[in-house]
Amino acid sequence: MTSEDHVDVLIVGAGPAGMMMATWMARCGIKTRIVDKRGTKIFNGQADGLQCRTLEIFDSFGFADRAWLESNHMLEICFWNPDSTGKIARSGRIPDTIPGISRFQQVVLNQGRIERFFLDMIDRESPIRVERGVLPTELKFDESKAEDTSPDAYPITVKLRHLSEEEATPKQVATSANGMSASDGLFRSNLAADDTADLIKAAELNAKANTVETVHAKYMLGADGAHSWVRRELGFALEGESTDYIWGVLDIVPITDFPDIRMRCAIHSAESGSVMVIPRENKLVRLYIQITTTEKSADGSGRADRSKINPEVILQAANKIMAPYTLSYRTLDWWTAYQIGQRVGTHFSAKERIFLAGDAVHTHSPKAGQGMNVSMQDTFNLGWKIASVLKGTADRSILKTYEVERSSIAHDLIKFDHKFSRLFSGRPAKDVMDEEGISLDEFKEAFAKGNMFASGIAVNYGASQIVAKAPEASTNGANGVNGASKPVQSQQELATEVKVGMRMPSFKVLNQSDARPWHFQQRLPSNGTWRVAIFAGDLSLPGRREELDALAASLAKPKSFLKRFTPSTGRYDSVIEVLTVHSAHRTDYTVLDFPEVLRPFHEVDGWDYNKIFVDDESYHEGHGDAYKNYGIDPAKGAVIVIRPDQYVSYVGPVADYDSLDRFFSGFMIEQK
Ligand code: FAD
Repeated sequence: MTSEDHVDVLIVGAGPAGMMMATWMARCGIKTRIVDKRGTKIFNGQADGLQCRTLEIFDSFGFADRAWLESNHMLEICFWNPDSTGKIARSGRIPDTIPGISRFQQVVLNQGRIERFFLDMIDRESPIRVERGVLPTELKFDESKAEDTSPDAYPITVKLRHLSEEEATPKQVATSANGMSASDGLFRSNLAADDTADLIKAAELNAKANTVETVHAKYMLGADGAHSWVRRELGFALEGESTDYIWGVLDIVPITDFPDIRMRCAIHSAESGSVMVIPRENKLVRLYIQITTTEKSADGSGRADRSKINPEVILQAANKIMAPYTLSYRTLDWWTAYQIGQRVGTHFSAKERIFLAGDAVHTHSPKAGQGMNVSMQDTFNLGWKIASVLKGTADRSILKTYEVERSSIAHDLIKFDHKFSRLFSGRPAKDVMDEEGISLDEFKEAFAKGNMFASGIAVNYGASQIVAKAPEASTNGANGVNGASKPVQSQQELATEVKVGMRMPSFKVLNQSDARPWHFQQRLPSNGTWRVAIFAGDLSLPGRREELDALAASLAKPKSFLKRFTPSTGRYDSVIEVLTVHSAHRTDYTVLDFPEVLRPFHEVDGWDYNKIFVDDESYHEGHGDAYKNYGIDPAKGAVIVIRPDQYVSYVGPVADYDSLDRFFSGFMIEQK
């Protein structure tokens, strides 16, 4: 049986990267299908660490609270190293998340729960459902239609084959540890041979799997993991090196006399290798241990022989490293083995129509808790861009920024991982003359520095059409679709702590109309909307009120960028939302003292009370000191343009309406 379907977006792979993409599509109302070759979602094990930036992103979709409540919070890292007698001893402690960088800290929770939060959100907001046991078998891409934005142009054609339940269920190696069986992650491990071809073949042979469907898509995402079928169909490669380090991962409820088992620990033994301890939810602890087995698998692939790695082997290794402390368990939740390969994709997209994200374009070691986080952040970067192009509000040219922005992150990630893995896997130096060994001071310093990168907060996108950086850093100015030729320039000095290219930091401000405190980021939900945040300054100071009124008057004109780029059928804030934060005393003003365009009137809902905020003392939650923390002078103010993914595009003066207009004219499409 063959059937035909037309979609705007086809997502292959329902891991973290695919789920994040589907979430954006659900939020933005884009016709989407998401398929996964596996018959079920994963339930436990696999990735576990959620970095603070990822929690900010979850919060923007409304489910960070679930992760925050269910997870284990990691607050301290302890370093354990050999003392002068060679016995391991605690040599230092640092905070796990650098204090003050985010309103969240790193937490750990298994990937199965995280996928559940995505599924619930997608179910609630849209008709999109993950279709499991469905595999693409053929991809045709008509490149001549890549730039065709007409509604009936579908440059991508994919054949989807529906597998039988048996085909879609991975075969697991039965494990018995301490007399118990446990699920393992080897079927998804990069030590396992790629079985996509086998699945396609099995499906062809299996009479039950007789449904083939042709799907025509405008855009496609390959979020199908390290072995990515989509990547191979496009003829793109992953480049880099595969190391011989193999890591065993064990999720257990430990029984031990090691005192810091509920802390994140990096333990280096004198001669027996190292172990990373990650305390988890439900009394679980994850151990990452370097395994020394070098026996290769008989299949000639060059991979390690996974039949030689099992929970007992991993536990024995842990006991050797942690001696004289001992470790055993009665509950084994999950385990796997992982070979470190550090690679980055040669291309992240084909003609900005078919995109790759997540493990499909970068692979590295799991220890720094980056894989799932960076994978989700790839599609967090991409989703809103595709949605706005499909909705006809932004020009296709913005899609080029995906590869530019995310490939540079992937390369940074590999550099970070390379350094981190070497330091983690190396033997501790015996003394200052021991050049081959790893200096423990160097390790601790790299760890502390690495924490900033690992948090996800350090991401700083380069200059582009949608990031108006200072001219010396600018490579692409703002030469856009609507004839704007002079590059728009930010004036970073007006908001010294709000870095153009980085995510908008968050401090508390009060709603002018009801005095409720809000973290500013909570006012930036991920719904595809751009924000113009007017930090009007202290309105009691000379010139502040006049500048705000003049900007509001320009915004209210029928030809303002606010009006030109918003469809006549859309709400006033559906494309660009204007938020105002002033710093005069809250009680000296009411919401109605502000120009109407800043708190618009809706014929059904009345005045909008969620647009005007103030940097003032709250009754119960102190003073957010937003102006001070953002580095904005209340006597000058600033305007900040924030992308739909919360990254800062532009900082400029309140008095400069023209730069704002030129910035948006660089990539937005005028609505009829
Ligand atoms: P994946 O999670 O791999 O998801 C890809 C999805 O695509 C899968 O559901 C798969 O079934 C599906 N798929 C694949 N091919 C096809 C196809 N042809 N057709 C249809 N569907 C397809 N990261 C950490 O941060 N910490 C950890 O401890 C950690 N441990 C890991 C252990 C293992 C065994 C593995 C494999 C990874 C681990 N990672 C860890 C990495 C982390 O899980 C990944 O970086 C993250 O899951 C990548 O997300 P993704 O969505 O890009 O890919």
